[in-house]
Amino acid sequence: MPITCSRCGSAGEAMPQPPMPTALGAEIQRNVCPACWQEWQRTQVMLINEYRLNLVDPEARKALERQMRAFLNVPATRPE
Ligand SMILES: [Zn+2]
Repeated sequence: MPITCSRCGSAGEAMPQPPMPTALGAEIQRNVCPACWQEWQRTQVMLINEYRLNLVDPEARKALERQMRAFLNVPATRPE
């Protein structure tokens, strides 16, 4: 599936699989190139460590999703 990445603007192939088995994962697959997703993965680990995010906590997961959307330039499609 050809896509244009919302973060780096390059055109290329989408990730072969959505990175998460959710609607958000499908949205990321349609909008973000594999290289930028990898970069987010590394950034995410740093954020989780820096802010000591407990991902069992729904608020922490929401905060991380906001960071992810900002990082990848994928705005929320519906209000939270
Ligand atoms: Zn990209």
